[in-house]
Amino acid sequence: MIEESIKKSIRDIVDFPKPGIVFIDITPILKDQNLCSNIVDAFVEELKDLDFDAIAGIESRGFLFGLMLANKLNKPFIPIRKAGKLPYTTIQQSYDLEYGSAVIEVHADAFKPGAKILIHDDLLATGGTVEATSLLIQKMEGIVAGFTFIVGLEFLNGKNKLAHFSKNIYTLAK
Ligand code: IMP
Repeated sequence: MIEESIKKSIRDIVDFPKPGIVFIDITPILKDQNLCSNIVDAFVEELKDLDFDAIAGIESRGFLFGLMLANKLNKPFIPIRKAGKLPYTTIQQSYDLEYGSAVIEVHADAFKPGAKILIHDDLLATGGTVEATSLLIQKMEGIVAGFTFIVGLEFLNGKNKLAHFSKNIYTLAK
């Protein structure tokens, strides 16, 4: 089972990036090329009936499997980045963090109005980041087609923030 393989591979890092936080490190997955292929294949299977035009991956770990998946499905990949990293004209969306706020952005020509966008990130925690990404896509008149995550932390109820954008929420491991 893909879920067991993912759980065996990822590891908890205590007190990262600051004291009191247990950070789930997905990087060991990247050392296992069979697992990487199996993750991409599992997403392909989950998405087989979903109609979408492009995949938006969230900086930075959302780039890893987002691009692999887009390439496998022969679809464009759209990088969503923290403010100040994208070189061309951008559209921005701010969102609240536990302390303060953050801004994400996308290139203004990343997709055309009406495009159906699948949002991908490595991990769903509170859902704040993908909620902001969904708002950004809607600001550009895109349609949120669904979400994929390698890991979804159920106890944080992040899915509640996403359901009104799309009910198509796929997580490979809980
Ligand atoms: P959220 O906005 O609270 O759902 O947090 C999700 C975002 O923060 C994603 O972009 C994740 O990559 C990152 N993130 C939050 N917690 C973790 C973790 O424990 N491991 C890896 N990434 C995390």
